[in-house]
Amino acid sequence: MFRDNSGRGGAVQSVRMRSLVLIGHGSHLNGESAVAVYRYAELIRQRGLFDEVIEGYWKEEPSLRQVLKTTASTDVTVIPMFISEGYFTETVIPREMGLGHQGPVPPEGVARVIGGRTVRYTLPYGVHPSMTDVILARAREVLPDANPEDTALIVLGHGTTRNENSNRIVYQNADRIRESGQFAEVQALFLDEDPKVGTWPETVRSPRVVVVPFFASEGWHTLETIPEDMGLTGTVTDFTENPHGHQQVFYARPVGTHAAVADVILHLAEEASGAGGPGGDTERGHEAAWQAFLKGARAGLRVGEVLVTPELGVFELRNALDEGRPGADLTTLVTPEGVRDQVRFTDGGEHRPVHTLRNLPRGWRAVLSEADLRRAMHYVYPAVIEETYAHDCHALRPTPWATTARRQTGIYAKVQKATPAQVEHVAQDVCTGCLRTRLWAGHKLTQSFLNGVPGGIPCAEACTFVVAEVREEVSGKRGGGGHSHSH
Ligand code: SF4
Repeated sequence: MFRDNSGRGGAVQSVRMRSLVLIGHGSHLNGESAVAVYRYAELIRQRGLFDEVIEGYWKEEPSLRQVLKTTASTDVTVIPMFISEGYFTETVIPREMGLGHQGPVPPEGVARVIGGRTVRYTLPYGVHPSMTDVILARAREVLPDANPEDTALIVLGHGTTRNENSNRIVYQNADRIRESGQFAEVQALFLDEDPKVGTWPETVRSPRVVVVPFFASEGWHTLETIPEDMGLTGTVTDFTENPHGHQQVFYARPVGTHAAVADVILHLAEEASGAGGPGGDTERGHEAAWQAFLKGARAGLRVGEVLVTPELGVFELRNALDEGRPGADLTTLVTPEGVRDQVRFTDGGEHRPVHTLRNLPRGWRAVLSEADLRRAMHYVYPAVIEETYAHDCHALRPTPWATTARRQTGIYAKVQKATPAQVEHVAQDVCTGCLRTRLWAGHKLTQSFLNGVPGGIPCAEACTFVVAEVREEVSGKRGGGGHSHSH
């Protein structure tokens, strides 16, 4: 999108740009957690309404601390991919992204200028009123001929005594659908609070009952707990001896995995405060970092474990340990998404939440255009190009461990009790397997991959993986070697 940011040799011609960032929870242990966010990012990318769609995570990379640095424009809309408001959307995400906001987010979202970028942070997708349409779409999938004469709808929420907001949204959706008159009766029921899901045979009278779980994804609750509590045996279950006579229950898939959630995301982005403007500029620091990388790539470059080789107008990426192997021996990838899926797991099939750990899988090569090379590198080493360039320009400020620890809340507040020796013990164990150099622990990086040292990558602050390991260390639950935490 950017044509010339040099300001020299002719008119500067920049095209207005907009970036969309989708934030997921992610997981240190399980590669599946990020997949829903990838899927929505892809659906929205295909519509071409944003110049870029980037995924960010609490427990994967790019992390909440890094993701803003990876956006190419100065106009950024951030959408938390959560089904309800709560601790993550109100505390963790705003804090880690430096939004200067804590607590409930107003309906129009929060807008801030952070490091030259205008950042709009919205409510989570699950609270948007158009989720009602997603519930109805899920209901239609299991019972296309539902009607107001004989069909009831149960909107099923998790519910919890700690977060009133999560049940409020389920009630609001149930109210809206009831008012629309499409069902004989509409009930909001919950797994963890009253009215409980197990009470349905007493309260629901209609012979046909559609159950739509208001959950983010398929998982233990939708596959085990709900069927067990309701006595369901599959998508359709007959109950012959219920208090109100014969009833047939149609069990829908969770709302959060429906493709129409992409429309909800776009509504949120459109309605965010200050959205709909002309868009932003190319973020100059970001562009300069990528130009520095591309200059190296055009001559051939090694970044960490990956080798970038120019080849007749395109670029090849492969694990440097596969250097010299005939292309025919390797799996050839041709898209950034293909690279993303390849590098998410080690050769042994383990999830890689920290991409700079020295366990990049082997046996593949990717052949990519220059535009795709940028996206592929973002997936191989999220935020590495931006942070390394900033480091080389003396613009990367390390965050000492004590500051990272002080910021932690909830179950991670415990890391504030860690002694320097405990933190060092964990770092010795985990960080020695990582390409990055711990600036946060006072280590110095003098040469980077941008000037010929492949492993020269800075680590400005302890990643969430190390924070979680320090928590285990403080709790005395950490065994020797490898990682042990369970989130
Ligand atoms: S904290 Fe350690 S493991 Fe995490 S990114 Fe930095 S150097 Fe790597």
